[in-house]
Amino acid sequence: MHVISALKELSNFISSIKSNRKSIGFVPTMGALHNGHLALIQRSIKENNITVVSIFVNLLQFNNLDDFEKYPRVIEEDFKLLEKHKVDLVFTPDEKEFYPLDSLISMDFGYLSQTLEGEFRKGHLEGVGIAVSKFLHLIQPTYAYFGLKDLQQYLLVRRMCLDLNFPLDIVGVETVREDSGLALSSRNKRLSTEGIETASVIYRGLQGVKEGIDKNEPLDSLLSKTRSIYDRESGFELEYLEAVHPLNLLSVDSYTNLSELAICVAGYVEGIRLIDNLYLQLE
Ligand code: AMP
Repeated sequence: MHVISALKELSNFISSIKSNRKSIGFVPTMGALHNGHLALIQRSIKENNITVVSIFVNLLQFNNLDDFEKYPRVIEEDFKLLEKHKVDLVFTPDEKEFYPLDSLISMDFGYLSQTLEGEFRKGHLEGVGIAVSKFLHLIQPTYAYFGLKDLQQYLLVRRMCLDLNFPLDIVGVETVREDSGLALSSRNKRLSTEGIETASVIYRGLQGVKEGIDKNEPLDSLLSKTRSIYDRESGFELEYLEAVHPLNLLSVDSYTNLSELAICVAGYVEGIRLIDNLYLQLE
């Protein structure tokens, strides 16, 4: 497994792969890897000749400095895991080389970045857009893999690649969960055992919405029922619970006449912000 930080070295590596006409699968991460990341990596390994994983805690996408500073960093453990899974290259850019200047470019994703995470984490999605663009230019992948847990990020990256003709396909990968239903997340590493248990209410709430929809209950009463489940869970502080159209993330107030729906949720446990969503294919 190659580990590269310097941009020049990365460029040489990528050129040699490209000259051999090999396909490149790319998985961007912020490290503290878990089985959710591994699902993306395994898919990339299966579908490409070469798999590149980046580990970079991207300051530009943090709207809260404390969150950035406390973000789990376990790079040696990550390397071991990636080596074991036969990843070809790990790219760990140096912050100063990756962002030599304050970027003059800003990104605006229109309605895609005005709701959900865009509303509550100002600048987050725009920071993701800049970093992902840079990675895609540097790595020139054939496919890039993103988790559907971060539904808004996935949609936004896919749309950015379409709008700007990035020559690759973006692949969305299903959310990997604990037995309790809690979505795996690097941030879970900061939770106590009790916090992990509390956080499982997030998925229980989402499941409740699904069950209600299966019984044809109206969306507004289902959402308010779920909000009260969240309110009753001491230790969980809800930020948002929204039913949206999964393609444009615009809020919906009924699912009659819809063929698909996403329920998105964000909240805090022990001061740690967690997000999740449930995609539903409707009759
Ligand atoms: P992160 O390191 O949190 O930036 O995540 C890197 C990639 O892994 C993103 O595309 C995430 O959506 C994806 N990811 C994170 N958690 C999960 C999960 N539980 N299941 C599937 N993909 C995930």
